[in-house]
Amino acid sequence: MKIIADTHCHTIASTHAYSTVTEMVMAAAEKELYAVAITDHSLAMPGAPHYYYFKNLHVIPQIFMGVRVLKGIEANILNFEGELDMNDDILSRLDWVVASIHSGTIKETQFSVEKCTKLWLNIAENPLVTVIGHSGGEKFKYDYETVLKRFAEKGKLVEINNNSFFSRPDSIHNCLEIAKICKRLSIPIVVNSDAHFSTRVGEVTDAMKMLEEIDFPQELIVNSDVNRFKSYLRERNIPL
Ligand SMILES: [Zn+2]
Ligand SMILES: [Zn+2]
Repeated sequence: MKIIADTHCHTIASTHAYSTVTEMVMAAAEKELYAVAITDHSLAMPGAPHYYYFKNLHVIPQIFMGVRVLKGIEANILNFEGELDMNDDILSRLDWVVASIHSGTIKETQFSVEKCTKLWLNIAENPLVTVIGHSGGEKFKYDYETVLKRFAEKGKLVEINNNSFFSRPDSIHNCLEIAKICKRLSIPIVVNSDAHFSTRVGEVTDAMKMLEEIDFPQELIVNSDVNRFKSYLRERNIPL
């Protein structure tokens, strides 16, 4: 199974990623993707760009080299209240907002299932968030069933992140559990590369292998079909 849009990618602006926007879009065009989302790390991440970077993303054409370029961000969740490290004004100008927990940027120190459940339920209430990024971290376990249901009710997409197979291998058993619950409850997901280099754009082999092993229904993978993806964009008033 393939994806037609990669909705989580980083550029040199993140400073621990190594390709430009042009190189990332070119890679997406070569792979014949309909869309790519540029989602560089937000302010709290060491080495992140200034907020002007996000404010000025509109200078990039909406369609570049035949690819729909979604102007996005990977915002860091700062606390159990679900506060993000970017103001709503900027977030509301962007097409695509991934919200993720990173252990280096969350300000809390004592974690529990109860507290992380509260964190994600708060994120579910944020209308500006599109995707729940790589949420399988063992340290940040939450009540999957309760929260995943709420994400779906609020029109958010649950991410299965291919990069987790390399950078967060200890979270994969939780990603599998999340995927199984999404299958059982018909919760829509996106499968993303989280590419930090152009050759990785659209590269989701490991994530797809995991999903195929559990017979995950293709119709729940929003970015595996152009029409399905476009209708999600329409629902959220994101220009095609
Ligand atoms: Zn990164
Ligand atoms: Zn990322």
